[in-house]
Amino acid sequence: MRPNMKAAYFHGVGDIRVESQSIPEAGSDELVIKMKASAICGTDLRILKFGHFKIPTGTKRVLGHEIAGEVVQVGRHVSQFKVGMRVALPPNIGCGSCAMCRKGYTQLCPTYEAFGISYDGGFQDYVKVPAQAIQRGNVVIIPGHISYEEAAMVEPFSCAYHSYKALNIKPGDSVVIIGAGPIGACHVLMSQLAGASKIIVADVQDNRLEEMAKLGVDVTVNSAREDLKQAVLRETDGEGASVIITACSIPEIQTLSMEIAATHGRINLFGGMPKGKEIVPLNTNLIHYKELTVLGTTGSSINDYCESMALVASGKLQLLPLATARFNVAEINQAFEYALSGQGMKTLVVED
Ligand SMILES: [Zn+2]
Ligand SMILES: [Zn+2]
Repeated sequence: MRPNMKAAYFHGVGDIRVESQSIPEAGSDELVIKMKASAICGTDLRILKFGHFKIPTGTKRVLGHEIAGEVVQVGRHVSQFKVGMRVALPPNIGCGSCAMCRKGYTQLCPTYEAFGISYDGGFQDYVKVPAQAIQRGNVVIIPGHISYEEAAMVEPFSCAYHSYKALNIKPGDSVVIIGAGPIGACHVLMSQLAGASKIIVADVQDNRLEEMAKLGVDVTVNSAREDLKQAVLRETDGEGASVIITACSIPEIQTLSMEIAATHGRINLFGGMPKGKEIVPLNTNLIHYKELTVLGTTGSSINDYCESMALVASGKLQLLPLATARFNVAEINQAFEYALSGQGMKTLVVED
């Protein structure tokens, strides 16, 4: 009889239950890791509210895809990992053979699987790592001095890093980030690293804007009280911003982004739109006459993830200030409540 552990299962919309079950056993091509830190992501909150097409009704799933832990079991055919290694798991596991996977864009694989969606994720004491995750590079060793909490937050940062590479943010750029959640914060940190001359963050929640001010943002705008377009024009000497990142899911913000962009501005429509709101009116003459670049990014590749981990390892990137609340697996419902409340920044689930 193997000892038991706690696992927080999503059973359906609004329904997460902490259950006791036996610790998984690694098959010959698998690993089992002891979860040390798993961060709650906006995706987890959306699944709790609306469900997910890859989690059919009647199945249960442990959510959480921002995972770091210690290897405690190694299958006999797995040679590259040893018991005691500290690892983090970039969540999107590509099929390995499609055109996107061949280019390294596993997040764009049409048949990708993911921890916390198609495999049980981080909100449990032990996580089984399937063979394909090991074979396709989804187990990354954490450099010695990086904490498990920082390693867990590499995943959301890597999405901002992926966006930065697409936007080619340069020294001297003025950057507007709309949405002051944890992902907005990652865009702030990345823009600072890239040498942006002025970073303007907009949101409708004062407490979140206060968190942004703590990160050293130049200007915060509460767009419920202040006209965002006027604020951006004022802060950019009437020119508009060089870079705009829409880190929210509001159609009107996509429309507005074209109006607040400078000539030759670059816009990343980073946040996806909810179902039924995907058709957004855009003044395409602004794109034409201002020669704007409008692009989109989604998620991050394993390469983005590893380069983000390297940035943390270099000491140039501090992710720990983003962690503002910690809960255990048994407290998962309080953890989700806290994350949904919009307080603080990143909510972490941690175990010793
Ligand atoms: Zn995430
Ligand atoms: Zn693929």
